[in-house]
Amino acid sequence: MIRILEDRVVNRIAAGEVVERPAAVVKELVENSLDAGATDVRVALRAGGRDLIQVTDNGRGMGRLDATLCLERHATSKIREFEDLERVRTLGFRGEALPSIASVSRFDLRTRLHDEATGTRVSVEGGRLAGVRDDGGPPGTTISVRSLFFNVPARRKFLRTVATELSHCVEAVRRQCLLRPGLDIEVLHDGRTLLRSAASTDPRARLHDVLGTEADQLLAVDFNKGELRCVDHIAPHDVHRNSANGAAYHFVNGRFVRDPLVRRAVAEAYRGLVPRGRHPVVAIDLRLPTDLVDCNVHPAKTEVRFADGRRVQRMLAEGLRRVLEDRGIKQRGSPRPQAAPVARGAEGPTQLTLTGEELPTPLPPRVPAPRPAPAPPPPGEARPAPTPPAAAPAPATVAAPAPPRWQPRPPLGPPGGRPPLAPAPRRWAPPPPRAPPPPAPAGPAAPVRAFRELRVLGQIGSTRVACADGEDLIVIDQDAARRAAIRAELARSPERLPLAEPAVVASARPVGAAAAACEALGLELGDFGEGSVLVRAVPRALSGVPPATLVAAALGPDTATDPKARIAALAACAPSLAGRSLSPYELRGLLRRLDELGLSPLHPPPGLLVRLPADHLAAAIAKGQP
Ligand code: ADP
Ligand code: MG
Repeated sequence: MIRILEDRVVNRIAAGEVVERPAAVVKELVENSLDAGATDVRVALRAGGRDLIQVTDNGRGMGRLDATLCLERHATSKIREFEDLERVRTLGFRGEALPSIASVSRFDLRTRLHDEATGTRVSVEGGRLAGVRDDGGPPGTTISVRSLFFNVPARRKFLRTVATELSHCVEAVRRQCLLRPGLDIEVLHDGRTLLRSAASTDPRARLHDVLGTEADQLLAVDFNKGELRCVDHIAPHDVHRNSANGAAYHFVNGRFVRDPLVRRAVAEAYRGLVPRGRHPVVAIDLRLPTDLVDCNVHPAKTEVRFADGRRVQRMLAEGLRRVLEDRGIKQRGSPRPQAAPVARGAEGPTQLTLTGEELPTPLPPRVPAPRPAPAPPPPGEARPAPTPPAAAPAPATVAAPAPPRWQPRPPLGPPGGRPPLAPAPRRWAPPPPRAPPPPAPAGPAAPVRAFRELRVLGQIGSTRVACADGEDLIVIDQDAARRAAIRAELARSPERLPLAEPAVVASARPVGAAAAACEALGLELGDFGEGSVLVRAVPRALSGVPPATLVAAALGPDTATDPKARIAALAACAPSLAGRSLSPYELRGLLRRLDELGLSPLHPPPGLLVRLPADHLAAAIAKGQP
């Protein structure tokens, strides 16, 4: 017998993905504090987070209704429509962290709006609401998570030692605060301060507090290519660690990510400069328009997908390499990153050239700004080491006694440092000026073979793109281009996007034997009783399309036997781009995709473009008519 699961059960299932260990709880709670505009966050832990994780913030707090609503599944104040995902600037948006956490712990929420006299306290026991009452706490929010996994013995058993869990918790906080110097942050374990960093306007002060003294050697980074910008700090060649944890701080629009493209770009930039198997300390934030990156790839939101990953990787690798080269850090005989030979052997000598004359004049080391002393230990306790070994980042190796080579950079933004949610401007810099076209050869230019070689002139209205191919004019239909791209993608190896919750949609036709063919297209369907179909996953390229529309297209009357017809019908579901003005970057991305799909402007599929040859144009102009 099939039954719809109770919310409490669904939340516990979701908790399996969102909350895999105490550090995940720390991450989600601190993210919520940042999203609430907090400038001061305290994290108190007991027994590595097994017994208690408590996050206190001075953010905007919640009223009574929100305080109870926030524990409902998919309750979020951050988005309304699916399309909002393309614009999301907050760290959270899925509305599932709090209900998931509350379903596997003893959960206590105390919160108060700044302009209200009383606050609210909500208690939940393993997902069951245990009480809602008035509360007299300060403005802001305190969430206490006790006895994590008390009702999921399998998970509790799986937890590692206190020291290990604790080090993951501290690392989770490092990631959240590293690039937010304006945030006052403290982490306590069993009453001892493990990490403390006061708000500052100097990004270096935060790097110093979080990463230790060798962070003072980091090089400032700020470069851009079109709409992509990369900021913050990277290590010179001789500051590296033995693990990516504590070294690879990669962010996309302020969100910590684990992304293979970014990882590869960093590795490429440092190839031959750090020994194999070592990780240069890198804290970089890649900023790009939110519609060019999808953050909704995994429930934990640490994975992203770029609209044009290859371009991102190239831009990063080249930009980082240039920063290193500008400081005279380069590999012998390797003017280009791609050409860098790979250093052999784990700790073998790096073939490094430091050419003195290329080094900027060394600057005096940073005079540390006066920093408030960490809170004194509670009476009766021995003065603790600032960070226990387990929680400390893996020790950095300083291979050569290099003088500090950093350049101070002008303070960013208003006092208080980077605000946690500063909306990045849509465009950071005008696109680089187009290189002047090569001098026209004597005869007519040969037509180009690839879409990316066309010169994009611009968008005509909001549905077509005008390009020049030598002296010919080519007009491409945007929607046709996108449909062609989707068709080709479906025919190859479409990525499937599992739905957070399977959807049940009405369908006149059963799935039956079409299930396997649909699954090959990324559309995972199952029969769900009389007249309805269960949708478990959709092709990523069509993620914005309602599942019912996809089912109707996939099981349509003429798709039964013809796989090509099914692909065309699905691609036709893609929402039109008409009415959207596309940036030059997006236009070029569209053209690049056509190339990747093996299409050519010389032999385009019907309906994709028209070409107005040069002589045709010349004749029309001479006649004074089209
Ligand atoms: P999400 O962050 O994806 O929206 P969560 O389950 O993490 O989902 O949180 C649900 C909602 O609860 C948030 O959208 C926010 O409105 C509210 N909330 C959670 N934590 C806080 C906090 N510390 N301060 C203010 N509001 C909060
Ligand atoms: Mg959240």
